[in-house]
Formats: sequence, C-alpha cells, structure tokens
Amino acid sequence: MSKDNWKAQTKLIHHGTRRSQYGEVSEALFLTQGFVYETAEDAEARFVNQGDDEFIYARYGNPTTRMFEDRMAEIEGYEDAFATASGMAAVSGALLSLLKAGDHLVSSRALFGSCNYIVAEVLPKFGVETTMIDGRDLNAWKEAIRPDTKAVFLESISNPTLEVIDLKAVVEMAHAVGALVIVDNAMCTPIFSYAKECGVDLSVYSTTKHVDGQGRCLGGIICGSKELIRGPIEMYIKHTGGAISPFNAWVQLKSLETLDLRVRQQARTAMALCEALDGHPALASVRYPSYKSHPQHELALSQSEAAGTVITIDLKDGKDAAFKFLNALEVFRISNNFADAKSIATHPCTTTHKNVPVEKRPEVGLTDGLVRLSMGLEDPADIIADIKQALDQL
Ligand SMILES: *Cc1c(COP(=O)(O)O)cnc(C)c1O
Repeated sequence: MSKDNWKAQTKLIHHGTRRSQYGEVSEALFLTQGFVYETAEDAEARFVNQGDDEFIYARYGNPTTRMFEDRMAEIEGYEDAFATASGMAAVSGALLSLLKAGDHLVSSRALFGSCNYIVAEVLPKFGVETTMIDGRDLNAWKEAIRPDTKAVFLESISNPTLEVIDLKAVVEMAHAVGALVIVDNAMCTPIFSYAKECGVDLSVYSTTKHVDGQGRCLGGIICGSKELIRGPIEMYIKHTGGAISPFNAWVQLKSLETLDLRVRQQARTAMALCEALDGHPALASVRYPSYKSHPQHELALSQSEAAGTVITIDLKDGKDAAFKFLNALEVFRISNNFADAKSIATHPCTTTHKNVPVEKRPEVGLTDGLVRLSMGLEDPADIIADIKQALDQL
C-alpha cells in the first residue's frame, strides 16, 4: 500500500517522520538553533543548496519543526506549510508577506479580536486599503471585490458568533480577479476542514487550539502551495522572526497523533449537548453550525465534516444570567481559551471581545447573554449534566 493512500489518522501518526541515526521510535526533539558543518566547503555548499534535509538556522528551519510542517501540510492536502510562534504570527505573516502599500484587501467583519486589529489597524497603517463586510452576504463580497483586489481574508467559522462563510462562492469571486484567498480555520479544525477542496489558497491555523489541544503552548501554521510558502511567506517570516520554537513544534507534532480522536469526540459531545439543550426555557438560542437549528447548517456541512468543537448559548436574561450560570459550573472552567481537553466556558462580551464597541456588537451577533462553550474530553454525560445543573440555578 502506498503511503500516499494512507488514511488521515495513519498519516497523523507517521507522515513526515525524520529518524536520526539512532532509529528512535518517537520523533526526536532537536532543540538546536544552529547546525555545524564538517568543513568550510560543507558550510558553503549548505548555504547554496539548502536541500530538504539541510538546515541552517532555526528561525527558518529545524528538523523537528519540519516534521510538524510536513505532517500538517499532508493532512490539509497542501504542498507545504510554515509553522509560526502563534496563530497571530501565522495570520499576520500571511497577510503582511503578500500585501503591500496600495493593495486592496476584502475581509469579513466577524473576526477574532487580534485578526480584526491586523485588518482594521495594522494593514491600513502600511497603506493597504481594507474593506470589511458581512461575510455571510455573498452580494457584499460581490460588491467589495474589485479588479485590483489582491487578497480576501475570512474566518471559515467565526469566533465566537459561529457564522459560516461560503468558501466555494468567495473563492470563485476572488479567483476571478486573481485575488488570493486566505482563511483562518482555527474554529473548524484541520481534521474537519475541506478548505483545500474548496479552493482556498492559504489555510491558516492557531495550533494553540485543537492541535495542541491540551492548553500547553502557542503555535500557528500557514498551509499552501510550495510557491507561496517557500517564497514570500518564508522570506517574510524568516526575516521578521515569527518562527515556532522547536520545543513547541515537538509538543504539537506529538499532539497530532491524537488530534483526530480528540476532535471527533469533542464534536460528538457538542452535538449531544445541542440536543440536550434544544428548547431550554432559559436560552434564546443554542448555536452549533453542524446542528440542525443553525441557519447555515447545510452550508457548514458542505465545506467541513463537522463545524468544530465549540457551541454558543445565548441566555435570555443577559449578563446577570450569564455570570450566574458561569459561576455555577463545576466541570467547565472559566477561561478565554478554547479547544482544550478541559471544557471551557467564556463570556466574550466581558473578556475576549470586550474591545468591540457596544454599538457594533449586534452587527457581529455579540449579545450580553452569549456564552461560548468549548467541549473538553470529559465524559459527555458529565458535560451535559454540568450545563443543565448550572442552567437550573437561574
Ligand atoms: C486563537 C485564535 C487566533 C490566535 O491564535 P494564537 O495562537 O492565540 O495567536 C486567531 N484566530 C482565531 C480564529 C483564533 O481563535
């Protein structure tokens, strides 16, 4: 059987492994910044050739990091990948390496706070014109994309409002004018995403989230064609210093072995929780794009196998009810991260999204009663019971 035909779960365990002369079973952690050369001639040759197995400096290449990049690219179906220090180093690296003063970018409006800062503040500061729109509205994309648009940026599933954007339709409009499509896929997960099949040029992840999956270290990755990844993206990141630490790359490489098992379990729990909460009198809504009550549920399932591992609930009685609910939780931890083995509850309006101006919140679906629930790996029965007992206390 050819390795190319291996299923994803097999590739997540074996793909891209580089064994040292010792034949170690578990992938080695090469905690080294630099590399030595036997002779001056070898050093000279290394700087000329830079072959696949030839490393010079960890800011742009390290054997452990390369294993992580190769495995992620393979899983995502892209030719190559560049691993970064965090999800934001990946998002900002992808945008800043490809855009220059005078270029035009179209972006969806429902963005993670730091992504919004890059699009709304950083890029305009360097002369990139940005147009921000309601990403669910295909007419808005049509009007905003111009013949001189160089790139479009969006979150495939927005955080925390769980809006879904039609990837195939946006790709078609963008490619018609030669614009690149850059997608932040953090909520969707590398396991469920069909971004490559939908024609997305660069699929970007905060690997801090599901890839690490155990709340330990930051990381990010940009997946795409060799031409883009080893061209402008590597050039920009290697010179600006956004590379991942080999230690974090190793932690996250080893995490890939269990990624598929973890996110499938979390998505099953999300579905079971939606069913258990459907019609609950304290809730104005329960949202999970894979679940039948989500207005875009068919679209979500046409471009991903499942819509991530996070659901939101909207408490009818606003902030007071949300706080009372959060404080009554026993299994869920109150935190601002998501995609951990531990179930996590977040009140976006007072934490992660507190900087979104109050008047702009309705535009992106941010309400005072909104609580984001990230499914952990605890027993689903305990997760559901915990949410129910906390709601009963309202
Ligand atoms: C968390 C997150 C990021 C940023 O990732 P970091 O690893 O924290 O830098 C970017 N986009 C989305 C959608 C996220 O959820």
